[in-house]
Amino acid sequence: MLRHLIFIGSLLLFIAFAVVIALNKQEEQKVVKSQLMALNDSTGNNKTGDQMKDKIVKTDAEWKAILTDEQYHVMREKGTERPFTGKFWDHKETGTYKCAGCGEVLFESITKFDAHCGWPSFYAPGDSGVIAENSDYSHGMVRTEVICNKCGAHLGHVFNDGPKPTGLRYCINSVSLIFEKK
Ligand code: FE
Repeated sequence: MLRHLIFIGSLLLFIAFAVVIALNKQEEQKVVKSQLMALNDSTGNNKTGDQMKDKIVKTDAEWKAILTDEQYHVMREKGTERPFTGKFWDHKETGTYKCAGCGEVLFESITKFDAHCGWPSFYAPGDSGVIAENSDYSHGMVRTEVICNKCGAHLGHVFNDGPKPTGLRYCINSVSLIFEKK
């Protein structure tokens, strides 16, 4: 009888310990999560489309005044530069690619890869929320257009034939980008 009591007592004690440890872990995870959220808030990272309230809206005339003819055609009229003609399709320097319309950071060179397609290609945006997507049914194809989420500039398209880790290929017009060396 005594042995049974000792056994049950030990079992209860063990369960109590396990519960305390599990609760502690949960609390630690909560703290880490809130620290990460605070860090993202302070650096302005991980902005979602809804959180980005600083959108840039200009008239066509205003865009024409600040963009070159080719930039205006590609970025505001959804044109496409000829392959192997842009300045970034074979560009390999380390740095940041920004939107030529508003300066928003769009891609980092670390995600750039050679897709042999004649346009600069990236497997991921520099940050979540900087790029928005639209379905594009033009030219008899079904494609996903990518635009700058801040100023609405047409950038290019995203395809599902990219490399790891995302499997995506952001195929971007050079003329929509400006490069900042690091
Ligand atoms: Fe932009």
